[in-house]
Amino acid sequence: MKLLEITSFLENFAPLEWQEDYDNSGLIVGRPDQEINQALISLDCTEAVIDEAIQSNCNLIISHHPIVFKGMKRFNDASYIERVISKAIKHGIALYAIHTNLDNIQLGVNQQIMNRLGIQKPLILSPKEGVLKKLSVFVPNTHAAQVRNALFAAGAGNIGNYSECSFNIDGTGTFFPKENANPSLGEIGIREEAKETSIEVIYPKHLERSILIAMFESHPYEEVAYNIYSLSNTYQEIGSGMVGNLSEALSADDFLAYLKEKMQVSVIRHTQKLKKNIQRVAVCGGAGSFLLRQAIRAGADAFISADFKYHEFFDAENKIMIADIGHFESEQFTQHLLLEKIRNKFPNFAIRITIENTNPIKYYF
Ligand SMILES: [Zn+2]
Repeated sequence: MKLLEITSFLENFAPLEWQEDYDNSGLIVGRPDQEINQALISLDCTEAVIDEAIQSNCNLIISHHPIVFKGMKRFNDASYIERVISKAIKHGIALYAIHTNLDNIQLGVNQQIMNRLGIQKPLILSPKEGVLKKLSVFVPNTHAAQVRNALFAAGAGNIGNYSECSFNIDGTGTFFPKENANPSLGEIGIREEAKETSIEVIYPKHLERSILIAMFESHPYEEVAYNIYSLSNTYQEIGSGMVGNLSEALSADDFLAYLKEKMQVSVIRHTQKLKKNIQRVAVCGGAGSFLLRQAIRAGADAFISADFKYHEFFDAENKIMIADIGHFESEQFTQHLLLEKIRNKFPNFAIRITIENTNPIKYYF
């Protein structure tokens, strides 16, 4: 299979546009037309994972964390990052990362944690802003349905659990076809008045190109009049963290025991146990302390995340119980999510999870 087939599938599921500014998700090493025999999935792309790939004849590693975040100036194998990159290139192994774009989608890293905790229908804790746009296009009445359908088919008009959302205003359009025009309506040299509908739809910006193509292809006019607006609305389907309710409230002790078992962790760092029971739970796989305020605001009794620093634990202020389960531990099931997704789509493709435990943090009991 060509590498592009796999990466296109992954980017359709978790578009690269949803990654954070500091991130480097996407194809890091390799060519899109490269033929892939077998693939390995890992959280981190370490030298041990590269060695495993070489030994098992895998020429693609799909990792959650990108091996490279910033520009590199030297490649002399002085750091593990340089060694991973040079070894991958030398052995023709493609490196692909699917990081914060997978964190930020509804069916990504956090949904995986919610599933393990049995939390149904969780919502995004901090929905992204600046993602939604609005299109209004002026169409002759006779073709309004055709253009609307094309826009819907291209992904416009989805709001939460509703699809095919649009607003339509009828009015009169005017135009004067000049000498070189080829009007589908009216005649050259005569001002035309046409019964038109203004169709308004919203869409997430990564779909803009295909939505505009659908608009142009379905529209009868030679010149299409349309407006695009950037919206300040948040987009509830994309963003960091998730929040939802346990099916039954648990005491802090029972909750911690439940969390330990479901996430298969050996230790949990937590703030003072709350006296009230825990039912509403916020989660953020990986480093999530930046979401503590939102978790409190969302009424969560507990916040499951990782990488909290000493002083950040004080910010819980007995309003919420922070449960830091470890970065690797919070994201470990992300590997299973990727495996399942890819196997469902390409059942005959050889892909598996690395046998390496790439967690750099060890615990001594
Ligand atoms: Zn992470």
